[in-house]
Amino acid sequence: MESNNEVKNSNFIKDIIEKDLSDTSKVVTRFPPEPNGYLHLGHAKSICLNFGLAKEYGGKCNLRFDDTNPAKEDMEFVNSIKNDIKWLGFDWEDRLFFASSYFDKMYECAIELIKKGLAFVCDMNSEEVRLYRGTLTEPGKNSPYRDRSVEENLDLFERMKNGEFKDGEKTLRAKIDMSSSNINMRDPVLYRIAHLTHHSTGDKWCIYPMYDYAHPIEDAIEGITHSICTMEFEDHRPLYDWVINNLDFEIKPRQVEFAKLNLEDTIMGKRYLRNLVETNQVDGWDDPRLITLSGIRRRGYTPEAIRNFCESVGVAKANSVVSLAQLEYFVRDDLQPKAPVKMAILDPIKLIITNYPEGQTEMLEIENHAKDESFGTRKVPFSRELYIEREDFMEVPEKKFFRLAPGKEVRLKGAYFVTCHDFVKDEKGNITEVHCTYDPATRSGLEFTARKVKGTIHWVNCESAVDVKVNLYENLVEPSEDGYKLNENSLKVVTAKVEPSIKEAKPMDRFQFIRNGFFIADSKHFSESNLVFNRIISLKSSFKPSK
Ligand code: ATP
Ligand code: MG
Repeated sequence: MESNNEVKNSNFIKDIIEKDLSDTSKVVTRFPPEPNGYLHLGHAKSICLNFGLAKEYGGKCNLRFDDTNPAKEDMEFVNSIKNDIKWLGFDWEDRLFFASSYFDKMYECAIELIKKGLAFVCDMNSEEVRLYRGTLTEPGKNSPYRDRSVEENLDLFERMKNGEFKDGEKTLRAKIDMSSSNINMRDPVLYRIAHLTHHSTGDKWCIYPMYDYAHPIEDAIEGITHSICTMEFEDHRPLYDWVINNLDFEIKPRQVEFAKLNLEDTIMGKRYLRNLVETNQVDGWDDPRLITLSGIRRRGYTPEAIRNFCESVGVAKANSVVSLAQLEYFVRDDLQPKAPVKMAILDPIKLIITNYPEGQTEMLEIENHAKDESFGTRKVPFSRELYIEREDFMEVPEKKFFRLAPGKEVRLKGAYFVTCHDFVKDEKGNITEVHCTYDPATRSGLEFTARKVKGTIHWVNCESAVDVKVNLYENLVEPSEDGYKLNENSLKVVTAKVEPSIKEAKPMDRFQFIRNGFFIADSKHFSESNLVFNRIISLKSSFKPSK
């Protein structure tokens, strides 16, 4: 279902595109994930931006796996990334690319640079390269191998490719300027030797291109017009342009940087997430507490909510931290009109209606959505013994507590007014039963005007209640002295009492459990004999969007 409140704001990247292209439908962007982990919300930001721009202008956005680094990549990640992008609602059509399929072209480009006298084979090891590089305040020194002849460079580079040298023994470097104020321009390494098997090219290559060299070539091969990346690449842009300008490509892509998405009290980095998964501190990459897209999906967040959130965050050059409340606002905003309502008691105590006939059950008709009649109604059983939330009764009511207390009257949702006249405690002093009387004249749907009540509480009929396992979440991490630590209370599991219609639920079905929030049937562990729900989000919000 498309969200009806999709908004598109202007931003500086759109201004650049509109200035660069007289026909904006010619815009080509790309999303270039490295397949070394699952995508997270930060990636969603980049996906929404790249695919979103293409969609808005009628241009194109490619999916390109940046698999130039053979060491840590995996097909499991490739598949999960494709899944996540589709789930978010974007389509790369027939434009699925792998950077590794350009290795031949990248090699040819390197030869072209050598022939132009713009690249050389260097025998220094990484320690020597570092010593020669200089610092922010001091220029670097030329490599003693910098003036090798073109012929010698061509010969050595070919032998590098043929596997004649060990890892680290030689590199191919650009010949730019060791005294450049930008350290990235001080004869950066373009190729390194690594005798590693690559997941798609196998053992064909033992030299691999560096990111700063490979990425502009990938963009140029694909005819990318605007190569959108995050701010840490700003200082690399001169190198990006150097590579593009010294090679003959029809389209000269332009790199544009924007600030990463950071979320309050959340650690987004792939490495951190990977560690949590590999050390079994969470239930896989799709643990609902994780900010991975598969975690968010299992948690019950919707793609519309994520897209609206990303749009609301906007695009900026300055780093900022977005509040969790802002994300949650869009989740609620999207679920509110979509999720049918059910009654569920998360922390039950018994309510006994002492003047209701024993053995009688009536079926009450209750609407499935408070604001949308098209959801229809359902029949909910009602009888003498019910469950209510423990927090809906107070022995000594606080000020402004309008729910049940001795002598007080409330409405049971969709049923009757009840008045509390007694309660029972166990030896520890916990309330176990609340005793009430009901007034048959107050049945929901009847025109009853004689008196009003200030509170309505939800309930579930004891006899037909269904036991449901409910996962309640808190933030996965909490601030500590040295940054963040895992929050030990991030997952709380309770057994809820739910009205019988919950048995019809299927995995991924979402509901509003009155007053308790939005819940989703867990996609991983839910079955007919194991009803497991995850709390997507509670109902209260503190965030208001500016528009
Ligand atoms: P991480 O920092 O989590 O390891 P990454 O940047 O290494 O992520 P890539 O697979 O290289 O992950 O990223 C794919 C694309 O997503 C890149 O264009 C990158 O700039 C973008 N991206 C990654 N994190 C964020 C973020 N927090 N906000 C916006 N874009 C991001
Ligand atoms: Mg990366």
